Amino acid sequence: MEKVEKYLVRQDITLRDALERINVGGRGLILLVDDAGHLLRTITDGDIRRLLLDGKQLNETLEALSAQEPCFAAEGVSSAEALRLMSRNMINHLPVVDARLRPVDLIVRMDLDERILLSTPHLGTQEMEFVDEAFKTNWIAPLGPNVDAFEKEFAEYIGVAHAAATNSGTAALHLALRLFDVSSGDKVFCSSLTFVASANPILYQGATPVFIDSEPYSWNMSPGALSRALEDAERDGALPKAVIVVNLYGQSADFDELHKICQMYGVPIVEDAAESLGATYKGKASGSFGAIGIFSFNGNKIITTSGGGMLVSDDPEIVQKARFLSTQGREAVRHYEHRELAYNYRMSNVLAGIGRGQLTVLPERVTARRNIFDRYVSGLKDINEIYWMPEAVSGHSTRWLSVCLVRSVDKSSSGLIDHLESENIEARPVWMPMHLQPLYEGCRYYPHTAEDSISDDLFSNGVCLPSGSNLTSIQQDRIIQAIKSYFGLGNMD
Ligand SMILES: *Cc1c(COP(=O)(O)O)cnc(C)c1O
Repeated sequence: MEKVEKYLVRQDITLRDALERINVGGRGLILLVDDAGHLLRTITDGDIRRLLLDGKQLNETLEALSAQEPCFAAEGVSSAEALRLMSRNMINHLPVVDARLRPVDLIVRMDLDERILLSTPHLGTQEMEFVDEAFKTNWIAPLGPNVDAFEKEFAEYIGVAHAAATNSGTAALHLALRLFDVSSGDKVFCSSLTFVASANPILYQGATPVFIDSEPYSWNMSPGALSRALEDAERDGALPKAVIVVNLYGQSADFDELHKICQMYGVPIVEDAAESLGATYKGKASGSFGAIGIFSFNGNKIITTSGGGMLVSDDPEIVQKARFLSTQGREAVRHYEHRELAYNYRMSNVLAGIGRGQLTVLPERVTARRNIFDRYVSGLKDINEIYWMPEAVSGHSTRWLSVCLVRSVDKSSSGLIDHLESENIEARPVWMPMHLQPLYEGCRYYPHTAEDSISDDLFSNGVCLPSGSNLTSIQQDRIIQAIKSYFGLGNMD
């Protein structure tokens, strides 16, 4: 709960200081209290403006103001009741007072009814400089210095040798499969619990996906299930061309284990790090573990270029070829000669400018998202029907999304999502696993153990809560209160 003290003023301050306090409070008003701390009235910047127009001077005190019956609510007021009070009195702010009429909180209408989204873009301060530069230097054509610089800066950040910027994460993944020569009739293994973009490029190439379940410690690819799938594939004489390992919701998969298994069969890993930029595994950056790693800068990701992606690898030939395939595969001759089918998948120079700016604030974004997760955990610690997504010991998650499971006899994840929706708060189920998707009906699936499919359980009971790094503490309090009320715990404590 936001400290109410910063809005409290006494009558003896000057109009100038009152304006300053309104400005600092950021809510367009302050609360006038007497010496005992009792609420006397609210003062808006409009009230001061009227005094000045009446000829009062900035160095006069608030005693110049006339008395006004304050409108307020008692502690424990529900959001709905607060909204009713504000509508009836045609005001947008409502002081909350304790039994002795001392302000303890300030409710702002916008905070109560403004929609809270799952994860929204959060711009820093440098993006416009880089974009401006692109405009000034007339580098609006697709390629240019921001793309080169973004690739270099990004590769350095991840600790890989090379990077190629693309117009989406999906495009980067598609290129990765092309680079491993995946084609019609081939098999590709892929994490089942993921966004559909991880798997679709397998179909783009006319190949056959085989889906692998999660393990319960990080919710990422189960080494046990992968082992069984590879054993079967070897027995059938049809090893996959690649294994797409997804790092879910900001957390790295267990690459030591997965690498060991894939190396036994000589199958390369494509690391889908679209959701885990900024995370680490055993001290190394997420996305640097696959033979190829891919990232996304879609609007909901931890940093964004509005739309974009990146392909990284230590192998210079792979990245060179990725750039070639993402720019229509034009041969290095004067005329337009093409020997290979290729794509228009390159990132634009303007968007790369946004990416350069966003990259500078990535560590802050990770901290902000982790703090949001911690605040949910502590705010909801009394609800023993909520279980949080675990953080594996070997990694450092970004908590891109704060995800929990509802395990209860009479409450459910969909019930919670409905309840939050009724409070204008966006929450989403955990990804629907690929082996349950109508699009992938009939595809082979390897659960964690013969009896136990982890991803089915996570899908049935999981909820992704609003997690944007620009979520305010007031908004988060609203979400926490709404969750508490769903589980029958009192509000506004
Ligand atoms: C977002 C996402 C992608 C796709 O990235 P786009 O940039 O939207 O194409 C791929 N895989 C996962 C796991 C994602 O979350």
